[in-house]
Amino acid sequence: MAKFAIVESELSKVRICLRCKARNKAGSIKCRKCGYHVLRPKRKSKRVKK
Ligand SMILES: [Zn+2]
Repeated sequence: MAKFAIVESELSKVRICLRCKARNKAGSIKCRKCGYHVLRPKRKSKRVKK
């Protein structure tokens, strides 16, 4: 379980650019790749199957 916690915390640090889907570090304001300023955090919660 500890490993999962670490992985989740690592994933939650990642922010995804909505334009080019590039990964950016948490706290980054702009995408490092295209400069787009709208980033979303990567999902923390586990996938839920429909
Ligand atoms: Zn981008």
